[in-house]
Amino acid sequence: MTINANGPRRLLIVLAGLLAAAAAWPAGAAAQTPDPDAYTRLDANAPALAVQATLPATRSALQLEGRRLLAGSLEVYLSTSGAAALFGARRDWLEEGHRLVLRAGGRDFRLTAGSRLVTGDAGETLLRAPVFARGGDLWVPLELLTRVVGPALRQPVRWDPSRLTLGVGRERADVTGLRVEQLASATALHFACATALTYRAESPEQGRLLLKIYGATVDPEQVALDAPQGLVAAVSAEQAGNDALITVRVDPLVTRYRAYAAEDGSEIVLLLEEGQLGALPEPTPRGALTPLPADASPAAPRPITVRTVIIDAGHGGDETGRIGAGGALEKDVNLAVARELKRVLGRQDGLEVVLTRDDDSAVPLARRAEIANQASGDLFVSLHCNGWFSERATGVETYFLSPAKTDRDASVAREENWAAEGEGEDIEFILWDLVQNRFITDSSDLAETVQAALCRALGAENRGVKQAGFRVLVGAYMPAILVEMGFLSNGDEEARLVDPDHQRLLARTIGEAILEYRDRHAGAGRDDADGEGRP
Ligand SMILES: [Zn+2]
Repeated sequence: MTINANGPRRLLIVLAGLLAAAAAWPAGAAAQTPDPDAYTRLDANAPALAVQATLPATRSALQLEGRRLLAGSLEVYLSTSGAAALFGARRDWLEEGHRLVLRAGGRDFRLTAGSRLVTGDAGETLLRAPVFARGGDLWVPLELLTRVVGPALRQPVRWDPSRLTLGVGRERADVTGLRVEQLASATALHFACATALTYRAESPEQGRLLLKIYGATVDPEQVALDAPQGLVAAVSAEQAGNDALITVRVDPLVTRYRAYAAEDGSEIVLLLEEGQLGALPEPTPRGALTPLPADASPAAPRPITVRTVIIDAGHGGDETGRIGAGGALEKDVNLAVARELKRVLGRQDGLEVVLTRDDDSAVPLARRAEIANQASGDLFVSLHCNGWFSERATGVETYFLSPAKTDRDASVAREENWAAEGEGEDIEFILWDLVQNRFITDSSDLAETVQAALCRALGAENRGVKQAGFRVLVGAYMPAILVEMGFLSNGDEEARLVDPDHQRLLARTIGEAILEYRDRHAGAGRDDADGEGRP
């Protein structure tokens, strides 16, 4: 028998170490001796998790099965068949159930069960957690997608572990580029669009123009100009919630602008014009630039004379609309505010107000349009209350109606813009005709004016101006908006919406916004050669 002379000493050192560790850690922790294998241990019974994956480039979604296969870790694993579906990859087994090659976008990724090492033509990567074999497939930690496969394929992977959502690939931008065209005494900015979009141009101050493109994403790297070109000093773009917001700094010589869209929707053009030379020595030019007068362009701002306003109280009769958490009926709130709004606007000289319903009756859509047309309405304002599954949603939003090109576009728009937020119900309610195209600019202008006024007056959450594909009413030819005055599904907002004082405030605010719009358009129209709609 051989005695190892070092044995007892070694043991003492180990014991001393353990005692020191025990002293340093709270009681109880000492029992959890680190297990060197723990971090490679497969928990084959880990329950399945639903991982929601979206692929914005193709606007598709997948539900995948995830599992926390690594014992003692929160790392989520996907099977390679799931990962292959995300990247359109092919899988080639090298050894049955043990190693495979994932091939995507011309790249190879070699995976081995039990190993943290990934090899391939993109080099070697050591993952934090190993690949596991389970149920006839290899399972990979999500880290493989976010750190290795995504970057190698130049497809960013966004993983939200708290919501178990996965986004793969670049968002497809709607506004994709900018071209500058120099003309004799004008400069045209051509913004390339992937689809037909609705926009609004305004000049908040001298030297600056804002182009807002509704419900659109923008690629700020592609839509930018740093060095002056022609009459343009600089262009920058940003994503402002749902909308793309483009800021254009212009030369002081620019006095007029016009925005219009190509017939096929492939671009939006912002035309900047120099002032006439004779007009140059203007005394301190201040204030906004002037929009060019209306011409053949359907999107150019037009002078409007507002004499008759149609107020449409949403729903009625059997159709109650939303029902509040405390039992309030939307149709009643809509009617109360509509009547009050009629009182507010009716006090104005030269303004006629027509209600599409003045009692609790069900008025079909077609009839509402007929009423608007027979009365020769100049504006159509539909009043509604919002609702959502969650109590938490609050605030005001205003829709302007614009035509979608086809039913399919309309249904896509509905799914993408509203279904996710639980809206759509009211929009369906208002149908619109393609001829509304003419009125998009006017409608968006009215919507912006009403929305801004409501948010100011109520201090409400600003949910923004939105564009709704419509369906409507053959023959209601006038700018039209739909106001969601608040959420009946939120207890506090419901209490306010049924309060007569609050209803009066809503009516007064919407009324003042309509008057502001009327006055602004009447003023703009006075200088125009085009006297359309003038008495
Ligand atoms: Zn409604």
